[in-house]
Order: sequence, then structure tokens, then C-alpha cells
Amino acid sequence: MPSSPITTSVFDLFKVGPGPSSSHTIGPMKAAFDFRQRLAQLPSDSQQRADTIQIHLYGSLSATGKGHGTDRAIVAGLLGWQPETTDPDALLKLLRDDSVTYSVSVGAQTIGIGSKDIFFHKKRYDSPYANTMVLKLVSDEEILAEEEYYSIGGGFILRKGEPDAVASPQSVPYPYGTMAELKAQLTSQQIDLDELLLANEMAVTGRSRAEVNQRLDQILDFMHKAVRRGLRHKGTLPGSIRLSRKAPILFNQAKEMSQSSDSFLIFLNAYCLAASEENAAGGIVVTAPTSGASGVIPGLTYLAKHHFHYDKATLRAGMLAAAAIGFLVKHNASISGAEMGCMGEIGTASAMGAAFLTRCAQDKANIGPIEAAAEIAIEHHLGMTCDPIGGYVQIPCIERNAMGAVKAYNAYLLATSGAASFQKISLDAVIKVMKATGRDMSTKYKETSEAGLALSATEC
Ligand code: SF4
Repeated sequence: MPSSPITTSVFDLFKVGPGPSSSHTIGPMKAAFDFRQRLAQLPSDSQQRADTIQIHLYGSLSATGKGHGTDRAIVAGLLGWQPETTDPDALLKLLRDDSVTYSVSVGAQTIGIGSKDIFFHKKRYDSPYANTMVLKLVSDEEILAEEEYYSIGGGFILRKGEPDAVASPQSVPYPYGTMAELKAQLTSQQIDLDELLLANEMAVTGRSRAEVNQRLDQILDFMHKAVRRGLRHKGTLPGSIRLSRKAPILFNQAKEMSQSSDSFLIFLNAYCLAASEENAAGGIVVTAPTSGASGVIPGLTYLAKHHFHYDKATLRAGMLAAAAIGFLVKHNASISGAEMGCMGEIGTASAMGAAFLTRCAQDKANIGPIEAAAEIAIEHHLGMTCDPIGGYVQIPCIERNAMGAVKAYNAYLLATSGAASFQKISLDAVIKVMKATGRDMSTKYKETSEAGLALSATEC
């Protein structure tokens, strides 16, 4: 019996929200929204005395928060906006003018906040997580309320002092915390992988089978809308790099080369670039498992739907298998670029994509090849650093999504050639290696833009 079973919902892993970064955009927006809710509960005396809200950012939220739109996301959350329903154009307009203030409700009171209230701190903050933000409600020099939040990757947040929701094995019908435990459940309970994941999801969220399926279809729809928008949108992406969008060019090239064996790869590249370029532009995307990596699975699922013509049930089964791999990495290492470098983001997305492709190609779920495909994909992303130029989720991020998808495809091919027992390394083992490698990696390579490609910005 696992001591700490996974109780994350598929729909917490696949979250809809504005780009470009789940840990810098969606997480901070959710934290600010939570702070707003807490301010509404304060005694009216405190609400009336308040005159400022201060926002303090540390770690990579400070180092690359500007490029990632963290300041805008926090203002949006304080205004009561939620990621899934945010208008991306309205979000981009926030804080465009430093002199503008926005009225935030604190109970019956309103407080004006603007750029002057957001502090990007260079000094290290004593905190257990790399991405830390502290929000304060202040009157003169007195702090009336203060909360410390951690953005831990993929749009997940933690609040200081909030007890971790310790999941009991009874929280889900088929508890597992590792791939070995998942396989043991499949064998001992004589249950199919799809059914196990569905049953756990229904227990975690209280949704019915039909509701889970419907939401999976909606998530795929959001992903594919991002791909379609990206295939249409031309021009340059926001930010000082002035990077040109490439997806529409590749898409047209693939259509013209339909007789060439290269066209399949060019289509896949175009789909991944399309969703990633939408993310970089601040459009609505789906974390998979993060926004920075939100091009890999949309690209692969778009390919699976439009080129392989898999039906809805097959795509849903593939998405559940992908989610199971994302859960295992999040539970036993991390999906955050600030903790693991890019292997935590694109490496995980690639492993999820490999599991997706492998499950879709099977008539009935067979965990051996799914595990092998995910393991191969992670193995060949180990040590990959995160060094986005200028703090924008553009270089290397956009092309890296296409590369992650191509590696996922190859991992699926390698895993399904020969017996799964040919694999010498287990998924659990490679996730442990990922965690250890992430721990040893210098902070310079974890979403801070202080090293690597980020230092070649002048050459762009
Ligand atoms: S380099 Fe990778 S981890 Fe870093 S921001 Fe880009 S996609 Fe995310």
C-alpha cells in the first residue's frame, strides 16, 4: 500500500489559462485571486484602514517575471479574474501604462494598485520553493494581512502554513504513488489502466464518468483551438526579441510537400510550434503539464486526430495515460522549470506524449510499452537546462516543444519495437535520476535566464 497516493486530478494537470508560463502566469494569478478572497473575509475595520497592497516577488518570479507577465497576472487575480475565463487581450493591456492604477475590492472598500506596488527582489528569500511571492495588505507601515505563496510548476500553488492535503489511501479506490505501485494495482485488482485512472479521477473530483469524458473532450478542444489559432496567426511575438512566428509557414510547406516523406514531421512541427507560439503571445492554452511545454501534447493529439483519425474514446484513453505519467513525475520529482530545469517541463511533456501515442496505438491498455515509452522520453531529456532568452518563453522554448514531440514519437516507436522487458531502466528509476539531477543543477539554469542561451541574447 503506498504511503502517499497520488490524488491530483487530470484537470489540475491539464489546466486552461493564458500563456506564457504556468508557474509565472497561471500560478500567480491563482495565488492573487486566493489573496483577494481572504481579504474579503477580514474584519471590516482592517478593510477600512487598508491603503495599499504590496506584491513581493522572489526567485525566478523576480528574475523572469517581467518577460512572463507575472505582474499582469497578479493584478488580474487581484481584480478577480480566473485563468480559464481570462480575456488574453485584456490581460496584455494591464500595466501597459505605469501611471494607471486598478481598483481592487477589499470587502466594501476599493484600493488602487499599479506598477509601483510590485517589487522584483534580487536578494534570496528564505523559502522552501524557488518561486515565492508575498502579498501584503498595508496601512501606513502596518501590515494588516500577509500571505506567502509558492508557485510550484504547472500552475499549482501552495500557501505557507496551509497543511498539505495529506491524501489517505482511501481517497482513491486504486491508490498508487509510483509506477511499480500502479502496476501492482493493475495486477492485483485485475483492472484495466483506463478504468483505474477513470475510477480514481471520479473519486478525486466527484465527477461522473460522462462528466470526466466530456471534460477530456473539452480539454482536447482547447488544445486544438490553440493549434488552429497558431497556424493562422502571422507576424512577430511580443517582447524585445521580435521573434517571427513560424508555424503558418511550416504548415503551408507541409501541405505543398504532401507527397514527401518529410511532410509528416513538418506537419507535427507546425502543430507544436502553433500552440507554443500562441502560448508565447499570451493566448489561451492548456498546461500539459506546464504552459512552457503546452505545444507537445496539443501537437501530438492534433496529429493523432487529423492524420491517424483516432476516435474520441481512443484520444481520451491516451490523455489519461499521459496524465498518469505527468502525475508520477510531479509526485516524485517536479514539473517545474524552476526546480528541474527544462527536463521537468519539456522532458515530462515528451514522456506524457510518448505514453499518449503508445496507448492510442493499442487496442487494449498494456502498461509495459506505455511505461517504456515514457521512460525513454525522459531518459533523453535528462540534464536539459532552462535558460530562456530575455525571460521570454520563446527561445529555446518554442522549438523545444517541437523537438519534445518528435522525441516522444521516437520513444513510442522504440518502446513498441521488441518486448517492453528489453528496457533495463524503469520509469520510477529515471524519475529518481531526474530529481537528483535537478537538485544538483545550478540555479543559473532554472528559469532565471542567468546562463546558457539566455546570455546569447545580444546575438538575437
Ligand atoms: S526553457 Fe523549457 S523550462 Fe525553461 S521556460 Fe522554456 S520551456 Fe519552460
